[in-house]
Amino acid sequence: MDVSFLGTGSGYPTPCRGASAIALRYEGNVWLIDCGEGTQTQIMKLKCIRPGNMTKIFITHLHGDHMFGLPGLLCTISMAHKPPDGITLSDDLGSDGQATNNSKTIEIFGPVGLRRFIREALNLSRSALSFQYVVHELVPEKDQYNAAKSGDPSWDKWNPDHLATGPLHPSELGSGRNIFLDKAQQQWHVCMTDKITVIAGQLKHRIPSFGYVFIEGSKPGKLNSEKLIEAGVPKGPLFGRIKNGETVTLDDGRVLNPAHFIGRPQPGRKVAVLQDSCNSWFMKNMCYKCDMLIHEATNENSHQEQCVKNGHSTPGMAASFASATESRMLVLTHVSQRYKHHITHEVGDNDVTTDVLEKEAKDIFTGPVAIAYDGLVVNVMRKADP
Ligand SMILES: [Zn+2]
Ligand SMILES: [Zn+2]
Repeated sequence: MDVSFLGTGSGYPTPCRGASAIALRYEGNVWLIDCGEGTQTQIMKLKCIRPGNMTKIFITHLHGDHMFGLPGLLCTISMAHKPPDGITLSDDLGSDGQATNNSKTIEIFGPVGLRRFIREALNLSRSALSFQYVVHELVPEKDQYNAAKSGDPSWDKWNPDHLATGPLHPSELGSGRNIFLDKAQQQWHVCMTDKITVIAGQLKHRIPSFGYVFIEGSKPGKLNSEKLIEAGVPKGPLFGRIKNGETVTLDDGRVLNPAHFIGRPQPGRKVAVLQDSCNSWFMKNMCYKCDMLIHEATNENSHQEQCVKNGHSTPGMAASFASATESRMLVLTHVSQRYKHHITHEVGDNDVTTDVLEKEAKDIFTGPVAIAYDGLVVNVMRKADP
């Protein structure tokens, strides 16, 4: 499992720092979190990401620097993703109309309004796709809209209808779900594969914004075959039965408890992506003991008042959250374009660098801190890994 930072800037893309986009790679699949303008060219630069392997896209909120790249990216994937002759796209659908094979269906998750945005952008531009897609929408709570107002009186006058209407795009599946808050658990159950569960929580921002948490299931412990051989167990099917947790009786009458021959299960990894937010504390429990906490930090601590007013965080705020959640590693992203990074920018004498952000985070959080830059790839280690 690794995380690639494709775009790490706030607001708009520049030649040195793209708008928000992060790719999570896991067992051959690519999951994209946010898709700011220009994400597709960022993907081309980073050769380890294959657009054809993209199966899921998660959008945190509907600000343009997090999703204006989506229609273009879908069209480009379409060109790289033409189905082989003789296979029809409907082969991927189960009898209930749900996608059963992700290889030719892209699932897109994001706040209400995303379905309409994608449908209209693709329909109006007459963009045909060579694969099918489905949009599952997270329905914000009312207070997320209230928080969004931030005292801005123009908000009430400017209240577009977020619901998708009209005919589906020819490649759009009509099985998109509306995902509501689970009030008991205070989280949105986004999706689940056999290996990873994805949940979302609310962040305070100028419009409804969601943080995503990716939770890997634990891996069964390894079979200790040396110990089995020492115990006189013949190699063969018995090994498999013990590995599956079965209590086995040998020919000589001895009963073998599988627990003695299987190592401890390896805990799964947990990655949280918390983009635009001036208050992440609603997600404290969900982010408990993250292996990697990715949190926005748009401006330095001395700008906190204005930063919060704009719906954003400082390194101090992100680091306090990382400490409180006992996360193992903190990566700061969504950095204001004014901060130059030594790796991706030419840094002049009068430039402010990301070093200031790193120092401010390290003053509070004692674990490893990284300031993301475009092209950074970070491996997500298991707790047991060295
Ligand atoms: Zn943003
Ligand atoms: Zn935003």
